[in-house]
Amino acid sequence: MEQTLILLKPDAVQRGLVGAILGRLEQRGLKITALRLLQMDAALAGRHYEAHVDKPFYKGLVSFITAGPIVAAVLEGPNAVAVMRSTMGDTNAGKAAPGTIRGDFAVDIGRNLIHGSDAPDTAQREIALFFEPSQILSYARANDPWIVE
Ligand code: UDP
Ligand code: MG
Repeated sequence: MEQTLILLKPDAVQRGLVGAILGRLEQRGLKITALRLLQMDAALAGRHYEAHVDKPFYKGLVSFITAGPIVAAVLEGPNAVAVMRSTMGDTNAGKAAPGTIRGDFAVDIGRNLIHGSDAPDTAQREIALFFEPSQILSYARANDPWIVE
C-alpha cells in the first residue's frame, strides 16, 4: 500500500488543530502507521526542504518550520500521496477550496498548517528523515475491508 509523509506544522500545534486534522485524515480512511511529536532543527529542515533552497521564501520557511513542535506521521492508503495532496488543498491556503484542510482552517501561504509529500519517491525520502523502519507499523484494522475493496 502507498505511503506518504505528513507534517502538522508549528501553526497547527500552536492553534490546537492537531486532533481536528488527524481526525479528518482518519475519517478519510487513511491509516496512521507512524506518529511522533518533535521540534525540527535547521539541519533537518534543510534536508526536508532541500528542493526549495534557492527560493525567496526558503529562509522564512525554515524559521517557521523550526519555530515550535510539529507532528510527523506516515499515512498509508491507496494513492495515499495524491489523496493527501487533494485533502490538504492548494499550497496557497487563501486559494484552497473549502472542504480541504487548508481551505477550512488557513488563509495564508506561509501558515498553511500541513505538509504532504508530492510523489511516492519523495515520500520515501522524506519518511526516512523522520522515522526508522522499525517505527513504522504494519497492522490491520477491523474495518479495513469497509474502506478498501
Ligand atoms: N511556501 C511559502 N511561500 C511560497 C511558497 C511556499 O511560504 O511562496 C512554503 C509553504 O509553507 C509551503 C512550503 O513552502 O507549504 C513548501 O512549498 P511547496 O511548493 O512544496 O508547497 P506544498 O508542497 O507544501 O503544497
Ligand atoms: Mg512540497
